[in-house]
Amino acid sequence: MHIMIVPTMGCPANCSYCWNSETISEVMTTDTMDDIADWLKDFKDEPTTFTFHGGEPLLAGYDFYEHALNELSTKLKHLYPAYAIQTNLWQMDDKIAELFKKYEIPIGSSLDGPKELNDRQRGIGYYDKTLAGYEIAKKHGLRVSFISTFTNYSIKHKEEIFEFFKDNGLNLKIHPALPSIKDDNSDEFTLDPKDYGELMLYLLDQYLDLADTIELKNMDHLCKGVFMKRGYVCTYVDCMDSTFAIGPDGKIYPCYRFVDMPEYEMGHVKDKLSFEEIMNTKAEKLLHEYKQFVDEDCGDCKHIDYCRGGCPYNALAVSDNEVKNVDPHCEAYKMIFDKIDELMNQRLEFSFEDLDKTVEKDFNFTLNVGLDNTKAKGNKKFTVMDIAMK
Ligand code: SF4
Ligand code: SF4
Repeated sequence: MHIMIVPTMGCPANCSYCWNSETISEVMTTDTMDDIADWLKDFKDEPTTFTFHGGEPLLAGYDFYEHALNELSTKLKHLYPAYAIQTNLWQMDDKIAELFKKYEIPIGSSLDGPKELNDRQRGIGYYDKTLAGYEIAKKHGLRVSFISTFTNYSIKHKEEIFEFFKDNGLNLKIHPALPSIKDDNSDEFTLDPKDYGELMLYLLDQYLDLADTIELKNMDHLCKGVFMKRGYVCTYVDCMDSTFAIGPDGKIYPCYRFVDMPEYEMGHVKDKLSFEEIMNTKAEKLLHEYKQFVDEDCGDCKHIDYCRGGCPYNALAVSDNEVKNVDPHCEAYKMIFDKIDELMNQRLEFSFEDLDKTVEKDFNFTLNVGLDNTKAKGNKKFTVMDIAMK
């Protein structure tokens, strides 16, 4: 299970395409945090990851996290809690870094690329403040990965952006700028699905040479997904039964993207709703309608097992909250899945050729699909199988 805790929707940054923060917002109290732990005690008995999201979650401050992490780790010990945080790192300091180290919390932070490009999209001063926080986190041994949001502007600079992350040894995940259900402000930055698909093909091509020098999480997950025939991030699984978000005031939603949208409220943590009661809410029923729609609409697609129609939020954002279409990035997903599938099949064919030759030579052969095969790699250092096995 994945629980997203949104301690505040407030954020001091002013990113041009952001639709998920407010200038002023209440901050979750420690009482609400206690209610979350009490609610989840008997909700679902399975290992759970808690991700702190925003807005900017570090605005909640050290005392909030000291209390929250202790509360979750003691009251919910039976769920084997793991933690993560998504933050711009501006409020990072030695004290909070030490606390996060104690719980081994991996950090995801947003940075779009080199300073000039980043600050053009995310506001003057953003880059310096985030890098200063990154240095503190690094000093305390915390693991930080960056998410670069590609807009219809930054896509024109994809080579420069990739070089920046590679040359600075920064691990990277990419994210397409999305339209919003809440307002139209972000729409002019939205990345076209075909451009997103081409971006992923470009990054895969780069990664097949550089998988030992940089971590590109999207490609790791996509290759693993095609190989194992199941999704490894929420976008490519049926998130509706296993992901829930809690807003600053304790209201429950299907995902952080829906926080503060009254039509997606599913109750309050104080009500201690059971899993069955949550599944019976209007919002969950809509998401299950989406799941059924994907089974029919994507039924003939060979990628359905590890794509699952993409993100329901993305789909609902462009259809006025009605289930009418799958994730509009379908075109991009098909482009990258087709490529990985093709390369993976080539790889397996070559492995079986190797196997035949080995059988001819020696009956006491050993099956080794990871056999080094320069023909299968073409002129690349790695294969998609190498990436899937990372
Ligand atoms: S709605 Fe989208 S972002 Fe949210 S959990 Fe589901 S797939 Fe992930
Ligand atoms: S690639 Fe497109 S058609 Fe195929 S499962 Fe994903 S969303 Fe559906």
